[in-house]
Amino acid sequence: MEKTGNEARDPLTKTGDCDDGGNPRVNYGLLTFLKACILSVSAMFFTAVNAVRGLPRALTKFAVGKAFHSQGIRSSSEILKSRSQCQSSESTRHFSCSAARMDPQKLRDEWGKPSFDVPQMTHLLDHDNQEKRSKFRKIFSEDPLMTPKYNISLDEERDLALARLKKLCDQGFISVLDFRNNPLWIFAAHELAAVVDAAMATKMTVQFNLFGGTVLKLGTERHHDKLLKGIDTLQDVGCFGLTELGYGNNAVQMETTAIYDKETKEFIVNTPNPLAQKYWITNGACHAHHIIVFSQLYIDGVNQGIHGVLVPIRDEKPQCDAWSPDS
Ligand SMILES: Cc1cc2nc3c(=O)[nH]c(=O)nc-3n(C[C@H](O)[C@H](O)[C@H](O)COP(=O)(O)OP(=O)(O)OC[C@H]3O[C@@H](n4cnc5c(N)ncnc54)[C@H](O)[C@@H]3O)c2cc1C
Repeated sequence: MEKTGNEARDPLTKTGDCDDGGNPRVNYGLLTFLKACILSVSAMFFTAVNAVRGLPRALTKFAVGKAFHSQGIRSSSEILKSRSQCQSSESTRHFSCSAARMDPQKLRDEWGKPSFDVPQMTHLLDHDNQEKRSKFRKIFSEDPLMTPKYNISLDEERDLALARLKKLCDQGFISVLDFRNNPLWIFAAHELAAVVDAAMATKMTVQFNLFGGTVLKLGTERHHDKLLKGIDTLQDVGCFGLTELGYGNNAVQMETTAIYDKETKEFIVNTPNPLAQKYWITNGACHAHHIIVFSQLYIDGVNQGIHGVLVPIRDEKPQCDAWSPDS
């Protein structure tokens, strides 16, 4: 990144975090926390997806497995077996076996009614925010936008993830202020979203957790007034530029610099070599208007450690240009 515009000189450091000379102090604890957030949220996606995928199968086996055999109806394991035979005999990704094409409603009818009260069981398993979870699920089940799409291009995948997230934002399902007001909902929303579309869930966590959460926690009133509303509505899409090609978990070694120019009162953000390029930045390739660049801050030639600098990177309208590995 080269020299930034006027709005870009906006270090996300609190005034109370300065030393006697007025220079910002490094907050390694916070950095570690942010790092932990990325890793724990990634782990949470996979855990949530696996847990929720596994649960219905376990419940189904428990509740209805035996009854089907006695009624002469194919058991769930038989259906799954025929489905896996079908998949293994196919050399392409397109199914042609009847079991794979089975209508979901027909499948439900064949499996019969569970022996327990489904709403009660759902309430028990949901733990918190039951009403919000139920509305969330209704949208996922009924809105055509949420219907799974396969074999689509990278650009389509990205745009679809953004459109789905926008739909949730338009209905006010999630807010960056939930970190203060209802933190359990932040976890619940991740859990639910990851089941439907991991790409959307990743966008969601970067927008509301990594980007939004950092603005909320490290930003001042000035940043809050400018960004919090737009974060909730997706008018301001953000990304979180921590990871570098040469420094994944080893964030304190990263090499991107933010050098303060006292004459012009600007921060000059720079990538000094290829290993310092930001890498894995969700929303970075397209869609994001802002990035919080984590960089080594230099004031008067003295390294002040890693700080986040808010930098505008795109015009207001979300866009996704054709992307290639070389771009
Ligand atoms: C879907 C997705 C979205 C992402 N979005 C973002 C984003 O928006 N912004 C962003 O900044 N980053 C993002 N990341 C990057 C993510 O945070 C990095 O993958 C992470 O920081 C790990 O870096 P790495 O892949 O280079 O792994 P490495 O640091 O190379 O680690 C590789 C392996 O070595 C282990 N390891 C590393 N160091 C140590 C050590 N000291 N002791 C013991 N074991 C160690 C790790 O546990 C891991 O198993 C995203 C990643 C994914 C998968």
